[in-house]
Amino acid sequence: MDIQPPSPPEPASIGRLELVEFPHPALARRAKPLVRIDEALVDAVEQMFDIMYESGGIGLAANQVALPYRLFIINLEAQPDAGEELVFINPSLSRPRGTAVQEEGCLSLPGLRMDVRRPQKVMLDAWNLNGEQIHLDLDGLLSRVVQHEFDHLEGRVFTDRLPEAAAIEARGSLETLHEVFVGKQSRGELPDTETLLARLVQLEAERCAGGIA
Ligand code: ZN
Repeated sequence: MDIQPPSPPEPASIGRLELVEFPHPALARRAKPLVRIDEALVDAVEQMFDIMYESGGIGLAANQVALPYRLFIINLEAQPDAGEELVFINPSLSRPRGTAVQEEGCLSLPGLRMDVRRPQKVMLDAWNLNGEQIHLDLDGLLSRVVQHEFDHLEGRVFTDRLPEAAAIEARGSLETLHEVFVGKQSRGELPDTETLLARLVQLEAERCAGGIA
């Protein structure tokens, strides 16, 4: 692991980020580990907090703003002036214990809320924006949100975890989101999927090991 704190020279600016919704290809793509943290990435994380607060969320994964990096942010208070702003880079989860069922929603799946079964406790290892190691034993809401965001980095959304009956219930909402997304592409309001994927590959080449995969 080789993560450096922000330092010049800098790669290209990441630009203005926007929340993406299912079925944007960034959401289905396994995010890649970051090998550098630069000013553009720090700026991107600030934008992610703004987007999360504007949307009323308590967690946001990088691929929800079409950044293919293993990074997510959390603030359980959902407000800039309250709670703690957490940034987790290249996270890993271990020692899942217990079971808990709780209703979840997702900023990338608007209008959908379903009960999701997950381990109650889990250990989290990650790095923060300063390149410092984080080691936490999680329980409660933070455990829930970390596991939800970690799923995003694996290319999964919470509907992938539903039992069959609930998955059938969710299918209609997912089909509607799919139609909306394809409609935006056909009207030129969103780039085509090939263009979206090319942008992800470029971003991976700038900050992930091995360049273009
Ligand atoms: Zn989500």
